[in-house]
Amino acid sequence: MNLVSMKEILDDANRENYAVGGFNINNMEFLQGIIKAAEEVNSPLILQTSEGAIRYIGMDYVVGMVEAATKNTSIPIALHLDHGGSFEKTMECIRNGYSSVMIDGSKKPFAENMVLTQKVVEAAHSVGVSVEAELGKLGGSEDDITVDEREATFTDPEEAVEFVEKTGVDALAIAIGTAHGVYKGKPELDFDRLEEINNKIDIPIVLHGASGVPGEDVRKAVTMGINKVNVNTDFQQAFTAKVKELFAEKPDLYDPRKYCGPGREAIKERVKEKIDILGSKNKA
Ligand SMILES: [Zn+2]
Repeated sequence: MNLVSMKEILDDANRENYAVGGFNINNMEFLQGIIKAAEEVNSPLILQTSEGAIRYIGMDYVVGMVEAATKNTSIPIALHLDHGGSFEKTMECIRNGYSSVMIDGSKKPFAENMVLTQKVVEAAHSVGVSVEAELGKLGGSEDDITVDEREATFTDPEEAVEFVEKTGVDALAIAIGTAHGVYKGKPELDFDRLEEINNKIDIPIVLHGASGVPGEDVRKAVTMGINKVNVNTDFQQAFTAKVKELFAEKPDLYDPRKYCGPGREAIKERVKEKIDILGSKNKA
C-alpha cells in the first residue's frame, strides 16, 4: 500500500504547530469522503479504524479499499489502528499492512500499561510502524461523576514524562476532559494541564473525543501542542443527518446510492471544516 508512517506525518505537524486528523472510517462512503476532502485541500491524513470497524468491514476489505483509495493519491496517508486492545491485535494489523497502531493500555495500572506499550513499540519499530499509546482515562460522555473524580482520571504530567521515556512511543493520547461519543453539556478542557504536559514531553500529543468540542477549543488545544485530533462521531452524525433529511423529503427512496452518495458528500464537507480548524490545509 502507498502509505507513510504516522510518525512522519506527526513530526512535521509537531515542528510547525498544526494538527492532523485521525479520521475514523466505518464503511466505503466514509473512506471516500475523507480522502476526497483531504486531497481537495492538500492535507496529510491519518485514516483509522477501530477494532469494531475492522469486525464490521472485514480486515481484507479494509486493506483492499484503502489500497484502492491510496493508489493514485499524492497526499501522505497513514493507516492506523485506533484503540488497539491487545498486543495480538496490533500485530495482526501490522501484518496486514497498517503503517501505524495505537495500543490502549490506559485502563490498566500505570506499570502494566508501560510494559504492554514497550512490547508493542519494540515489535512495531522493528518494521517501521509507528505507535500511539494512551495515558489517563477518557470519560464516557454518559458518566455522572464529580469534578474531583473526573480530574483523578486526567493524565498526570510527571507520569507522562516517565511513560514516554521508558516506552519510546511516537505519540501520546492524553485525558484532559474530552469524552468519546456525544456530549451532554459543553466539554471543559484542562488547558493548564495540556500546557504542562507539552512543556515536559517532546513527542506529538493526541486529543481523542474531539467530536462536539467547539472549534475554538480544538484550535486552542492545537496551538498549545496537540498534533493529532481524532474525529469519528461528528462524521457519523453528518452522514446520518443527511440521510434522515433525504428520507424526510422522499420517504419512498429505495436506491442506496441516492442517499449514501449525498451522505458521503456531507462527510466530505465536515472533514474539510475539521481540517480548517486543525491547520493542516496545504501541508501535504
Ligand atoms: Zn479514542
